Amino acid sequence: MSERTLADRAAALDAADELAKRRELFALPEGVVYLDGNSLGALPASVPGRLADVVSREWGELLIRSWEESGWWTAPQRIGDRIAPLVGAAPGRIVAGDSTSVNVFKAVVAAVRLADPARDEILVDETTFPTDGYLAESAARMTGKRLVPVAPVRLAEALGPRTAVALVNHVDYRTGRLHDLPGLTAEIHQAGALAVWDLCHSAGALPVGLDAHGVDFAVGCTYKYLNGGPGSPAYLYVAERHQAGFDSPLPGWNSHADPFGMTPGYVAAEGALRGRVGTPDILSMLALEAALDVWDGVSVDAVREKSLALTDFFLECVEQYVPAGRVTSVTPAAHAERGSQVALRCEDAGEVMRGLTAHGVIGDFRRPDVLRFGFTPLYVSFGDAERAARVLSEVVGQRG
Ligand SMILES: *Cc1c(COP(=O)(O)O)cnc(C)c1O
Repeated sequence: MSERTLADRAAALDAADELAKRRELFALPEGVVYLDGNSLGALPASVPGRLADVVSREWGELLIRSWEESGWWTAPQRIGDRIAPLVGAAPGRIVAGDSTSVNVFKAVVAAVRLADPARDEILVDETTFPTDGYLAESAARMTGKRLVPVAPVRLAEALGPRTAVALVNHVDYRTGRLHDLPGLTAEIHQAGALAVWDLCHSAGALPVGLDAHGVDFAVGCTYKYLNGGPGSPAYLYVAERHQAGFDSPLPGWNSHADPFGMTPGYVAAEGALRGRVGTPDILSMLALEAALDVWDGVSVDAVREKSLALTDFFLECVEQYVPAGRVTSVTPAAHAERGSQVALRCEDAGEVMRGLTAHGVIGDFRRPDVLRFGFTPLYVSFGDAERAARVLSEVVGQRG
């Protein structure tokens, strides 16, 4: 056993960390340990200047010309192509825009429209972030299908000849459990159904491999691990083999083959941009584009490696510092089942999180009793993990 303290080990791990320099690309407040990037990513330092330029020059001076001259019109596809390598997609398969909620609706309905019409069930992750469940229910009702909620660990058993589509989360937002995207996608296809994946808690934190694993549709948000800013546009992935048949339930003028033809009949554009609906939210869209610069030259495998090292180290610090029995991890210990967050069950979790925040350690709390700590490898250090666990032990210690 090493005699070195956890703080010494944190310093050594930080010194050896190749991603540590990326932290300078973020404008983080002094003295704060920010472990809530799984809810709202930190501000990349390049965004304020870029946004000021978009507002004062592109909008203020160029005015309407910016739709073309500043590349506003094509931003959804261009930004989709910037997100693509982070989730293992080739160019032309992702379009940015709308919220994750809206994209869940587009993806589920479009998948049902591609499925064998005799199949009458939509499977949905019963532990899902609620919006996915609400939208899947509405999509099922509108398409005349039956919604079947099922835990991802039982998904394989629930699949069958009646399954049209399965909507699954890559990482559980509450527990941080990582689901087996390659394996489940293969099972879903084996059953003759289509797979729709929600990547909200995986994109930017771990490799996804959408093309490699043959995923049919995927959606995700950009304000968590992709640091796009509050309410930044989400994205929709459409596998190449489905693009010709992709029938969006929200065919707005932005996805018309000739949008400025202003014709009464809808003719769908080619490719993933068929997922566009109305005029994009340009300010948020271009803030996201600037935020994506922090990924230039970053390997997602390196991000994953650091993420696992951080969550391992944090769990070790918690185990060593926090009195036994005060917190219980609900995040799987096995790397293959862990995303980039640690969720700890804790009595009075709401109060404990308020105490942590007062001491500069920011995570969040999900009712009834879960503390969530997101580890964003581009700006969280091993020192942060050590300090967070130490402050946690002080806060729960004070509570007797
Ligand atoms: C964060 C999150 C969302 C958010 O949806 P919005 O439409 O952006 O509010 C949806 N699904 C999952 C799984 C999430 O984690």
